[in-house]
Amino acid sequence: MNFVVVGAPLSGKGTISKKLSAYLNIPHISTGNLLRDLVNSNSKEISSYVDEKLKAGELFPDEFIYAVLENRLDKSDCKNGVILDGFPRTLTQAKWLDSKLKVDFAIYTTVSNATVLQRLSKRLVCPTCGSVYNADSYDRNYCDKCKTNLVRRADDNEEALLKRIKDYNAITFPILDEYLKQNKLVTVANEGSIDLVFEELLRKLKI
Ligand code: AMP
Repeated sequence: MNFVVVGAPLSGKGTISKKLSAYLNIPHISTGNLLRDLVNSNSKEISSYVDEKLKAGELFPDEFIYAVLENRLDKSDCKNGVILDGFPRTLTQAKWLDSKLKVDFAIYTTVSNATVLQRLSKRLVCPTCGSVYNADSYDRNYCDKCKTNLVRRADDNEEALLKRIKDYNAITFPILDEYLKQNKLVTVANEGSIDLVFEELLRKLKI
């Protein structure tokens, strides 16, 4: 089964995707994480191109994202299904995806503006394994799983966030309509206890 997870910046797409990935034993593929991995690429040209665009919160050109994602989808662990987090982000990307695989469900994660602002100031990430923490509920400065020192995401600053939200409203939001028409849209209010949110998601997915 294939899922796409769509939602505004800081709506918790990654958290939901990780839980569903563990539950269904299919890979969680975040295009944002694939891009952040490229910052450590051996090619200085690629590394600085990706780094600059990520810091500015700018969407990458479709052809670039397709190449990065296709490379990941070709791996054998994707044969039973995938959870795509942050892809598609445009109607063109959604069409391209339809030519690659059958999307069974689009999970739409919603949160209030107050939660977005709270998460922005508190989000810490592990640069090694990608785990995400909230400084309100986690009081160490290293990752619980791999002990790497935690950092803030380069695009978790007000300017980049505004750009990401603007793009989301103008470019990404319309794809929800498409999935609604196709009867594939499942909406979850992604606030409060993650276990309760996840239970609600499973109920709605009926899986
Ligand atoms: P995310 O981790 O999903 O918040 O994505 C972080 C950043 O990666 C975004 O602000 C974009 O710069 C880039 N990005 C991720 N997914 C896509 C996509 N599907 N299309 C274009 N750019 C993307």
